[in-house]
Amino acid sequence: MDVSIRNIRKEFGKFPALHGLSLDIGSGELIALLGPSGSGKTTLLRLIAGLEQPTEGQIFFGKEDASLKSVQERNIGFVFQHYALFRHMTVADNIAFGLKVRPKATRPPASEIRKRVSDLLDMVQLSGLEKRYPSQLSGGQRQRVALARAMAIEPSVLLLDEPFGALDAKVRKELRRWLREFHDRTGHTTFFVTHDQEEALELADRVVVMSQGKVEQVGTADDVYDRPNSPFVFSFIGESSHLPVTVKEGTISYLGQPIGIRDAGVEGEGTLFFRPQDVALTTDTAALSGKVTASRRLAGTRIAELDISSGNGVAHHIEIEVPLEAEVAIGKELSFRPTQWKFFRG
Ligand code: ATP
Repeated sequence: MDVSIRNIRKEFGKFPALHGLSLDIGSGELIALLGPSGSGKTTLLRLIAGLEQPTEGQIFFGKEDASLKSVQERNIGFVFQHYALFRHMTVADNIAFGLKVRPKATRPPASEIRKRVSDLLDMVQLSGLEKRYPSQLSGGQRQRVALARAMAIEPSVLLLDEPFGALDAKVRKELRRWLREFHDRTGHTTFFVTHDQEEALELADRVVVMSQGKVEQVGTADDVYDRPNSPFVFSFIGESSHLPVTVKEGTISYLGQPIGIRDAGVEGEGTLFFRPQDVALTTDTAALSGKVTASRRLAGTRIAELDISSGNGVAHHIEIEVPLEAEVAIGKELSFRPTQWKFFRG
């Protein structure tokens, strides 16, 4: 099912939680809503579900205006961070719940419900556990039951609100991979909320980066990591260093000194962003340089922290990645040059 979000505004009292947000999502896409706390991710999910009404704007499911439909009519599968299974029901009864509570006219016969529950248990790899109660399952298993329950109603759209947030790192990683495979097999249009950038980049077909009730960028993991379109996206996704610079006739200068790189794009004062790994050490004098204040070894590489000084003291503290064999004694002066960067004016 395609989902088209058109110019949605949401105010809580006078507080604008979403400011005129638009998105076009294709059928079967796995979409991550990624952003810091308070950026409006859950609000957007609740609007899609129909649990909140927009102050302005519309949401279309296919060609139909969803605002004319109730929560039930939207046929949404919803999974929350805290699985919220019914504790007094077995796994099988939890999964069957959404079908059993349907009005008689649309309720499948008991034999079909049993078959569907058994297929779903298979799909979430929990066959054999149907008679257990939630308290007899691990966190990861409970979350898979919650997914099976959401899927049982054959939803048009699946909404997952931090579905793995309450689990430990290892189980989270396993479930991520599992969810990707599960999605590829079932092909539901799926939105999942996360504030974990790694989870968003690894799992999603496209990532919607949100900040303060606005969409900052929508794109594949490569788009948002390699081609961030704003300072916010550059610093929110992945590691980054930044320095205030001036660009004049293509020459980039830091504190009035050219730093050996050129940018033919926008001119003026602004900020130079680069990834710690996108730098090369150099012996050129026309380069950035700074004194090592600390260093740390990561698996295959080393990070050096540098104080970049100006005539009147420390101007900026940044991190760069250096080759393992580089000399990084504290106090050592390192010269380097960004090999890839992005300049944002202002
Ligand atoms: P988190 O990652 O912390 O869950 P989020 O990105 O999901 O954050 P939302 O829960 O959508 O953010 O909240 C967006 C903004 O709207 C926040 O400032 C929040 O305080 C506000 N907000 C959300 N729900 C309500 C409500 N029912 N009444 C008033 N303000 C609300």
